[in-house]
Amino acid sequence: MSVRFVITPLDFVRNAGVHYDKIPVSEFTRLRDLLFDDGGVVTYQISGYSDKNNKPCLHLEVKGEIHLRCQRCLDKLTHVIDLQAFFRLVKNEAELDQVNDDDTMDAILATSDLDVFDLVEEEIILSLPISSCHPDDECKIHLPESIESNVDDQSHSAHPFATLAKFKKTN
Ligand SMILES: [Zn+2]
Repeated sequence: MSVRFVITPLDFVRNAGVHYDKIPVSEFTRLRDLLFDDGGVVTYQISGYSDKNNKPCLHLEVKGEIHLRCQRCLDKLTHVIDLQAFFRLVKNEAELDQVNDDDTMDAILATSDLDVFDLVEEEIILSLPISSCHPDDECKIHLPESIESNVDDQSHSAHPFATLAKFKKTN
């Protein structure tokens, strides 16, 4: 696929690489399953830099609009994506654990090539809201207050992507 962009992470940082591209939402096969439809385009920019301790890092910025399904009326709900993520490149598992203890940054094992397409898709999935509903005045269904409080209770159940987040940490 033409939208795939693969980098050798440490080389990318060494060359202070910057790459910008657009990806149609329809190309994201994992994300697509979670959406109302696959309309829309996201843009991303990935750049390599060294942090203040001269450690190699990546900065990813993703913007765009996707169509979620309102969990109340089941109709289309436009969701704006505007996310930034920072990653420390590490060379081994020990360093990986160390960085993962720091909540402000994720670690990526820099021993193999990195598919930026996969990274963009994963970050979008992780950023999705736990429950998505239209604002009351835009939703087709207005629930009586008593039912609405039950809906709120259910929103505390497990995030559908919690397992994915866990997978990412241990991977
Ligand atoms: Zn709705």
